[in-house]
Amino acid sequence: MTQNTSLRSLEHHDAFIERHIGPNDGEIAQMLRVVGHDSLEAMTDAIVPGSIRSTDPLALPEAVSEVEALAKIRDIADRNLVFRSFIGQGYAGTHTPNVILRNILENPAWYTAYTPYQAEISQGRMEALINFQTMCADLTGMEIANASLLDEGTAAAEAMTLAKRSAKSKSNVFFVSNGVHPQTIEVLRTRAEPIGIELVFGDEAEAATTEAFGVLLQYPDTFGRIGGDYQAISDAVHARQGLVCVAVDLLALTLVAAPGEWGADIVVGNTQRFGVPFGFGGPHAAFMACRDAYKRSMPGRLIGVSVDVEGNNAYRLTLQTREQHIRREKATSNICTAQVLLAVMASMYAVYHGPEGLVRIARRTHRLAAILAGALRGAGVAVGESFFDTLHVTGIDAAELHQRAHHAHINLRAIDNTSVGIALDETTTRGDIAALAGLFGVEITDIDALDDATADALPSGLLRTSRFLTHPVFNTHHSEHELLRYMRSLADKDLAMDRTMIPLGSCTMKLNATAEMIPITWPEFANIHPLAPAEQAQGYKELIDGLEAMLAEVTGYDNVSLQPNSGAQGEYAGLLAIRAYHRARGEAQRDICLIPESAHGTNPASAQLCGMKVVVTKCDKDGNVDVEDIRAQAGKYSDRLAAIMMTYPSTHGVFEEDVVEICDIVHQHGGQVYTDGANMNALVGLAKPGKWGSDVSHLNLHKTFCIPHGGGGPGVGPCAVRSHLAPYLPRAFNDGMATAGVGDGAMVSAATFGSASILPISWMYITLMGRQGLRKASQVAMLNANYVARKLAPHYPTLYTGRNDLVAHECILDLRPLEKETGVSAEDVAKRLIDFGFHAPTLSFPVAGTLMVEPTESESMHELDRFINAMIEIRQEIRAIADGKLDREDNPLKHAPHTAAQVSATEWKHAYPRELAAFPLAVLRQQKYWPPVARVDNVYGDKNVFCSCVPINEFAGDIEAFSEPMVS
Ligand SMILES: *Cc1c(COP(=O)(O)O)cnc(C)c1O
Repeated sequence: MTQNTSLRSLEHHDAFIERHIGPNDGEIAQMLRVVGHDSLEAMTDAIVPGSIRSTDPLALPEAVSEVEALAKIRDIADRNLVFRSFIGQGYAGTHTPNVILRNILENPAWYTAYTPYQAEISQGRMEALINFQTMCADLTGMEIANASLLDEGTAAAEAMTLAKRSAKSKSNVFFVSNGVHPQTIEVLRTRAEPIGIELVFGDEAEAATTEAFGVLLQYPDTFGRIGGDYQAISDAVHARQGLVCVAVDLLALTLVAAPGEWGADIVVGNTQRFGVPFGFGGPHAAFMACRDAYKRSMPGRLIGVSVDVEGNNAYRLTLQTREQHIRREKATSNICTAQVLLAVMASMYAVYHGPEGLVRIARRTHRLAAILAGALRGAGVAVGESFFDTLHVTGIDAAELHQRAHHAHINLRAIDNTSVGIALDETTTRGDIAALAGLFGVEITDIDALDDATADALPSGLLRTSRFLTHPVFNTHHSEHELLRYMRSLADKDLAMDRTMIPLGSCTMKLNATAEMIPITWPEFANIHPLAPAEQAQGYKELIDGLEAMLAEVTGYDNVSLQPNSGAQGEYAGLLAIRAYHRARGEAQRDICLIPESAHGTNPASAQLCGMKVVVTKCDKDGNVDVEDIRAQAGKYSDRLAAIMMTYPSTHGVFEEDVVEICDIVHQHGGQVYTDGANMNALVGLAKPGKWGSDVSHLNLHKTFCIPHGGGGPGVGPCAVRSHLAPYLPRAFNDGMATAGVGDGAMVSAATFGSASILPISWMYITLMGRQGLRKASQVAMLNANYVARKLAPHYPTLYTGRNDLVAHECILDLRPLEKETGVSAEDVAKRLIDFGFHAPTLSFPVAGTLMVEPTESESMHELDRFINAMIEIRQEIRAIADGKLDREDNPLKHAPHTAAQVSATEWKHAYPRELAAFPLAVLRQQKYWPPVARVDNVYGDKNVFCSCVPINEFAGDIEAFSEPMVS
């Protein structure tokens, strides 16, 4: 038996590691030569400072194959019990249309896309998002809606702060109805306290008489009731200069009057029941809709309609495009990653069903609720009068009823000893109604007879009369072929990782392997209600405990909370823990947060949300944080120092030598060290922040740990802490599921485990890679970055390097000297890359006029070379401009990207040839990505804000032009 046919070597090639890491060992050797090192180990020694290096290997299992990992997680999934769930409380059962399940949720063209900052290659997903905005605005009766928020609880908190910013009332009180969902109330408590807002609770009607800058109602309320005098409440609140916020159920709004019609100013809600399963709490897309007057103050992302240079309609992110980066601690919110993929799903659900289909679903759900109520009432059970889909059953022995329900594999909502909630949804069947009635000893023999005998239970004065979803997009794609092709046509407009590397610095766009994605749609993970009894979620408990332990091992911290559902939420949770720690020690005056000027914009925004004052510290010419400035500021604010927030390796892509010293300085002055772990992809298996002196970090599972970016969400931002901060980690909503990683602190998300249903992705990644694979991934991530930097060095200088002239896992290419010389900007290069079929690197962050490239370990040498060649070719074009061979104004960079329509038009107006515009490299003739629009006008879109579906008559000219035959 020769060595390379032994069983062991044959099996080795099944290893997932080789699939996840792009370059093979031969290529790694070649690339190492370019970088100037003999081995990955030698290169690692040259890059990572000895003072922080871990000496021991990660205490994690060895790598396993895809088959083995899937078998393991199958076992875990099988420990979850899927009961019929009628718990409600903001979460409803839903059928994900199969065509959407497979072609959106399971389709890498959608889930591997990035946030649409590069408008020209994101038109498809922005159209889906503008459909989402239109859907939310139409159903709520508001003028404008955003492109998703993290969950209903945080959306309500954002509504509260928007109301505070916008209301004329000088009151400091926010009134919250007792009918608001309890988990929303918990998130509001967390968010209100640090910024000095006082919450006052009361019955809905008291909203009218309470002096407050804003009020929050739930419509229908958490017990299913609907039918207050909302108009009168709104009028009274407005008379006091306050604003009316309403949390809604979008499906109910197809039948009852839209809040916009009775005076609401800000409307929030969850779109979960539009085709996105429970997932044990998330991810789902929440939203905010409001009056036009508040659009410039609205949090989250907003898609707007602008024009391209040809004057055609084109979508782009509007207004607060990169709000946190520009406004920093003055940003209106810290929301960066939101819930784009889930928003796309929900919008497609509305496209699939259309307004009539939605009404049918709502009416059927309501009829079932009315029938059940009729049957129970007939047997003397009290169920409430006015409702949409949820019954509040009172005067019963709840414990006994829950027990009977349990035997029937049914979950009801636990409210108190004498009442339960029963929420119905589109998945409810006739059989369910009979089974539910049976729990009360009521036998339903003829459901249709009961149907005839039972009236609706909607409040007659509040029936919806206005139309909604009238735009053709919601009224055309109702056959499966039509919808399939519509979704395909949108995906085809976009560049995602299924077509090209996305070398975005700070974003870690690495492989999202199929095997990692497969478990998330298993019913045992997807169909568990977040408030299901603990014994039904044992699989989740094992998954969560296991993942927390893995992440603690990787980071060197003691405890981890998986509750934050984005990186910025992780920052917020970590800073709240620091704040609570200081308070517990009687040092509530500690409110200064030092943040280096190179920090990601969410850092100062999160600090501000915690009521901290941000003090910006300098960076030196080499891109390092300035230790002397930190020392000086820490000394100056010694009594008030709460924390430093630093990113490591730095946002400038280098490992600073002084990080241990910085931790010491901050600790000497009584502060805590927050390390932003978004750059963990350079550290896993090599160094642990929890061991070099840092106190708390968040990770981005949607970066380092392979959760796909989804076009701008979902995400998971675990908060990891050393043990002294553990008591202040986010806490569980229901005590039943409290685990080691959950403390007594705040609730930063509506669900205990945030975006629980996507945790299998990161669990699979770590399990597949094992201790060796994870370490190698970090090393190859650094090799790939240094390879790109070296190969491009003769053409574009790398702005900052660390030890031995090497970068960490990303490099910043400095375009500023070229711009001075030739007028070509970093943005021109970014747009020209589209003509080569590439997504641009990160543009002008953290340094204006630069491109930050992070290739990740998953890109093969072939793909890196393709990118390098494109960049070199672009450099030649810039040289040609400098040499006068291309015109300074009329050149392919300034007019990039080029559309097929421009290149094939009868008239060609440019000084350079069409071939150069379209096919700057010969290989592009065989495979070419054509952007659907030319360069998008950023200024126009912000001046003329328009954020819903474009009326069809505005396209009419185009359509006629399109359908006019060229040859007749
Ligand atoms: C991505 C990132 C964040 C924010 O993460 P979100 O999930 O988008 O909220 C914070 N800090 C750094 C350095 C990042 O790169």
